[in-house]
Amino acid sequence: MAVNSKHPETLALHAGWRADATTGSVAVPIHQTTSYQFKSPEHAANLFALKEFGNIYTRIMNPTTDVLEQRLAALEGGVAALAVASGQAASAYSIQNLARAGDNVVSSTDLYGGTWNLFANTLKDQGIEVRFVDPADPEAFARATDDRTRAYYAETLPNPKLRVFPIAEVAAIGRRYGIPLIVDNTAAPLLTRPFDHGAAIVVYSTTKYIGGHGTSIGGVIIDGGNFDWSAYPVRQPLLNTPDPSYHGAVWAEAVKPLGPIAYIIRARVVLLRDLGAALSPFNAFQIIQGIETLPLRIARHSENALAVVKFLSERADVVKVIHPSLATGIDKERADKYLAGGLGGLVGFELPGGREAGAKFISALQMFYHVANIGDARSLAIHPASTTHSQLSAEDQVATGVSEGYVRLSVGLEHIEDILADLAQALDAAK
Ligand code: PLP
Repeated sequence: MAVNSKHPETLALHAGWRADATTGSVAVPIHQTTSYQFKSPEHAANLFALKEFGNIYTRIMNPTTDVLEQRLAALEGGVAALAVASGQAASAYSIQNLARAGDNVVSSTDLYGGTWNLFANTLKDQGIEVRFVDPADPEAFARATDDRTRAYYAETLPNPKLRVFPIAEVAAIGRRYGIPLIVDNTAAPLLTRPFDHGAAIVVYSTTKYIGGHGTSIGGVIIDGGNFDWSAYPVRQPLLNTPDPSYHGAVWAEAVKPLGPIAYIIRARVVLLRDLGAALSPFNAFQIIQGIETLPLRIARHSENALAVVKFLSERADVVKVIHPSLATGIDKERADKYLAGGLGGLVGFELPGGREAGAKFISALQMFYHVANIGDARSLAIHPASTTHSQLSAEDQVATGVSEGYVRLSVGLEHIEDILADLAQALDAAK
């Protein structure tokens, strides 16, 4: 029996696993297997017909990955989860599980560059239109909604703007129409739980803080179990009409006896089955290792980032510092309300010398790594205009908050004196 608790510190170590029934192994074993011996032809047939739950093939489930899924669902306050090969796969599936060609989704403009590209180009090519709206005004989501809108999408703490998303406000608007809010909480695990504010689905790139050590790409979709799909048969056809790929199953009804998990079951047995972005069991193990220390790490990331904000704010050669602690007005209210657990490890700032100064600063760093990642235990820095956001048009760069002299820091877990010393010498070199 896994330990039950309401405390993230305990769940991070115990949810979903106690010990291996055969060997007594305390660490979660890495089940590096593609397939599983069926007990009998009848057993095999029952598994395929979903009459019985059990392992069939690692593309759709794996015992190591299962522990990861249970642990993340428990930490997030959801009912079930689906781990996938990357955060990008999680975002794509979260939408494709509700929308098909001819449908649309309304999304916040404040997105990771890769998600922006997925939405603006790849999903568009698949016939799914993503309508981007400024989340400053939550009612913009309602205005962009029509009969074919299947989901709302946003990031809790989007970088580079670091402007906290109004989760409860937009979730409530969606619930008026039968539209779930999907929240990418990658930058704020444990700092907020979007389900507590009415979101229906949470996605993560576990590559970042959840894994925490820069070793393994992964993603997860978590089902809040708080959205009654069967109440909206017209609005949510993919969960309410017969699925020809599964003998005409109507997911919202077929899965009801098992609990409110229709959304996540369909994502697994249809999308993961057909599109195949499965997480490797080894990566699942690595991500589980990361989760064990997530509560400690995320608190220290937040603490070190606050010290960096103070340091940068006092520097005359920094024109602007971007961090939720510096928000004003409604943005401050949202930061206080949603990030009650801490403000996270991301800090942005602008150098007066634009692109050239940004590049000089990055080259002068000695301890910070120059990488396209966030949420590593190590401190990281990047110049988004020339890297993560470079595939966006100049117009789209501005819409996502990337200016020429903008530098993004993911403040790590090193001693704060060393973090500040590296920033100081690189700022001096960039003058
Ligand atoms: N969502 C956010 C907020 C991200 O920052 C990223 C990656 O940087 C992703 C999703 C995509 O995740 P992955 O790189 O694991 O595919």
